[in-house]
Amino acid sequence: MNETASLRARAEIDLAALRANVRVLRERAAGAQLMAVVKSDGYGHGAVPCARAARAAGATWLGTATPHEALALRAAGLDGRIMCWLWTPGGPWREAVEAGIDVSAGGMWALREAVAAARSAGRPARVQLKADTGLGRGGCQPADWPELVGAARDAERAGHLRITGLWSHFACADEPGHPSIAAQLDVYRDMVAYAEKEGVEPEVRHMANSPATLTIPEAHFDLVRTGIAMYGISPAPELGTSPELGLRPVMTLSASVALVKDAPAGHGVSYGHHYTTPADTTLGLIPVGYADGVPRHASGSGPVLVGGKVRTVAGRVAMDQFVVDLGGDRPEAGAEAVLFGPGDRGEPTAQDWAEAAGTIAYEIVTRIGARVPRVHVNETPDETAGGVPR
Ligand SMILES: *Cc1c(COP(=O)(O)O)cnc(C)c1O
Repeated sequence: MNETASLRARAEIDLAALRANVRVLRERAAGAQLMAVVKSDGYGHGAVPCARAARAAGATWLGTATPHEALALRAAGLDGRIMCWLWTPGGPWREAVEAGIDVSAGGMWALREAVAAARSAGRPARVQLKADTGLGRGGCQPADWPELVGAARDAERAGHLRITGLWSHFACADEPGHPSIAAQLDVYRDMVAYAEKEGVEPEVRHMANSPATLTIPEAHFDLVRTGIAMYGISPAPELGTSPELGLRPVMTLSASVALVKDAPAGHGVSYGHHYTTPADTTLGLIPVGYADGVPRHASGSGPVLVGGKVRTVAGRVAMDQFVVDLGGDRPEAGAEAVLFGPGDRGEPTAQDWAEAAGTIAYEIVTRIGARVPRVHVNETPDETAGGVPR
């Protein structure tokens, strides 16, 4: 037994799997660079180790949502290109400019803050202009694009910034053939063409998330931004399972069985007594709950591998623990209970939990709580260095 096996719960993160997934995705988007999206602590996998592993496998860009996430990567020693896109007024614009991080502007206020930050930092900002080509979330509407592009070009000519990218995001990339995909590509090409006519010379044009990387080759442009697929999870079951896509899930969530005991027939289990033992049986206590990210919506349905058999959450998931009916089996207290992993030892997958909880696998891995230690395995020595691959 290794030392981590004695932990209450652990999320083992297989960095060899992550590197292999990055290589698969680079092959799928040959000709484009790859941005490893490590927002929200690397979708719960640990941003810095995952960023290093992705870099070692050839990811030339790192992407985060918030500027604080991007600055934390720099502070951890990751060099090279880093981009972040989710800004609010008063954000750490100057720190980002000083750290050489690519910032995103989808509106005039953001452009003004980037210029002000560049002036006070005494160096040009690296700004990527974001187009709303149809998602209807962040980014600049086509009608407002001439104003944004014009102002950015003026600031570029004045030496305050460099327009490093033109980018957008899909609404329905996980639904192949959805009419919005072709429509968004058309709008994007028009918006890029307009900016280039105005003199913009972007280093990168990019639009593709994981599903677009896997299924829409014409959306690869200069760079693909992969998150969920890099963590080995299929963006949508309709696109295929992880093995079918050549991907291997990176996270294995397990816990140590805290108690095994006999219980008579007719015994209510957990809050609300939504489960009643159908016969004399044994119950196993699994010491993780919704505070650890185990969805309460998976009460009565979440699958767990215990003692070689897949069991189902009996009754409600509580804050810190839940119970499984072991049907008379008696694994030792301390035995391993695997909630999800790659699936090849018979354990459930994050996708199975997503179905049990009525959500998507993205949410299952991302919501694993801070109380669960991440145990990174299969790190290679050069990943401790952190830089761009040589
Ligand atoms: C999260 C995110 C991605 C990555 O999406 P996946 O589907 O996980 O690959 C790409 N681009 C943007 C703008 C994002 O917010």
